[in-house]
Amino acid sequence: VAPQTLTLTLDPHALARELSGKLLIDGELVPARSGRTFAVVNPATGATIADAAEGEAIDVDVAVQSAHAAQKPWSKLTARERGRLVTECGRRLTEHAEELARLVALETGKALRTESRVESGVLADAFVFYGGLGSELKGESVPFNPKMLTVTQRDPIGVIGAIIPWNVPMMLMALKIAPALVAGNTVVVKSAEEAPLAVLRTCQIMNTILPKGVFNILSGQGPECGGPLVAHPKVGKVTFTGSVETGRIIYRAAAEKLIPVTLELGGKSPMIVMGDADLDKAIDGAVAGMRFTRQGQSCTAASRIFVHDSVHDEFVGRLKARVDAMKMGDPLDEATDIGTIVSPQQFEKVNSYIELGTATPGATAHACSAMPDDPKLAKGLFVRPVIFTGLGNDSRLAREEIFGPVTCIIRFTDYDSAIEQANDSEYGLAATIWTRDLRTALDATQRLEAGFVQVNQNLVVQPGLSYGGVKHSGLGKEASLEAMLEHFTHKKTIILNMV
Ligand code: NAD
Repeated sequence: VAPQTLTLTLDPHALARELSGKLLIDGELVPARSGRTFAVVNPATGATIADAAEGEAIDVDVAVQSAHAAQKPWSKLTARERGRLVTECGRRLTEHAEELARLVALETGKALRTESRVESGVLADAFVFYGGLGSELKGESVPFNPKMLTVTQRDPIGVIGAIIPWNVPMMLMALKIAPALVAGNTVVVKSAEEAPLAVLRTCQIMNTILPKGVFNILSGQGPECGGPLVAHPKVGKVTFTGSVETGRIIYRAAAEKLIPVTLELGGKSPMIVMGDADLDKAIDGAVAGMRFTRQGQSCTAASRIFVHDSVHDEFVGRLKARVDAMKMGDPLDEATDIGTIVSPQQFEKVNSYIELGTATPGATAHACSAMPDDPKLAKGLFVRPVIFTGLGNDSRLAREEIFGPVTCIIRFTDYDSAIEQANDSEYGLAATIWTRDLRTALDATQRLEAGFVQVNQNLVVQPGLSYGGVKHSGLGKEASLEAMLEHFTHKKTIILNMV
């Protein structure tokens, strides 16, 4: 592998233009075969910043063939050598972290200081974490018969198709491809229409280290580009993060081919604040958990907050004051806390939920923060964060995933009813409880139906901690050692008869 370097480009507009119209297949930046493109728009201004190549079935086929050809030689490297190269990718991505943060802020509207830099940091960390796990691709010896040696080994699946969303595109991609690569697979990624650039740059940076064909990336529309990727006969597994609706389509298509899938889907995560909670910490936890800095565009957003009657009014007042003090503005401005919604469709959807909630009898909408007053941002997709009180857990706002800066605070008096309401959801991604009572905390960890349950904290995905939902929030786990072993390898049993 000949190491090359890319010039750092800290001007995200210039970098967006440089990456315009390209897919990355077999180590090369190439246009789509059709020559077609679609606009990538800065959601803070409405200006087009680049044209993304519109990949379709023919491009999918070329990319999968390249990944297929690269897979055997890649799998013949020792696992530790693959891990070393993946770690090296993490190191190189760290050098490019500021560049990637600026580019993702420009295309998604996520504030640079509070969100985009955090994402580019975790991105590099995911590669470093998985890069160290090459020697963990171990099998077992099985005491099956004393005259036979029976062992298992972990074989790669082959070519992995990965389909990703726009909200944390680089990090969610890393959690799929880092374990897949270390396990000896090669990958073809289909990026989200709204955020094709930072992930393309990530792929370009990694291709300065990885052999060609090992990591390919396509931009394009869901059914026209993602569809053929799932259906391609040489794709042996699909890993997807996105909506429940698309997850169902992908699961059905994978069932036709009888291939495994991992699905990371939506959420409507509950946060329970007991009367004895440390309110300072709980309010910090609500701000962080609701991801107000990302306009609530988070699958784990604490979008249902159950607050004990005894502290309800104080909690609402103090939470509103905290969010009021946050500055909405240009995502690339260091003073900005809260950026924009990602796209006009998402903007409409979020506003329609706010209208619905506001019109509901008995509900109060506490709109927080202030719209930016910079005329350059007049067409920006900014939404004032809204804290609703007076809505029940049966309201549409408390049941449906809004994926915007909207949370419902629901008053409770009885702990059991708070747990029941928290579990009364089609989703089960994350849940938190805030209390000083150990018995209550322990009880809640056992009863809350979610893949990720936390007490007195609201951490998000961290490499090393298994992450993934139950119920309609998905199938399978990411971010941990078992995610690599269970989701990106086949277990082969080998029996050696010694007689
Ligand atoms: P989406 O389902 O609309 O799109 C996700 C990806 O699927 C995109 O790349 C899209 O092009 C592709 N796609 C769409 N239709 C397809 C088809 N027919 N075949 C193949 N691919 C297709 O989701 P979104 O709006 O981009 O993302 C938001 C959703 O993602 C929310 O529901 C959110 O909860 C979820 N999400 C989940 C997690 C998690 O870890 N559980 C993390 C982030 C986001």
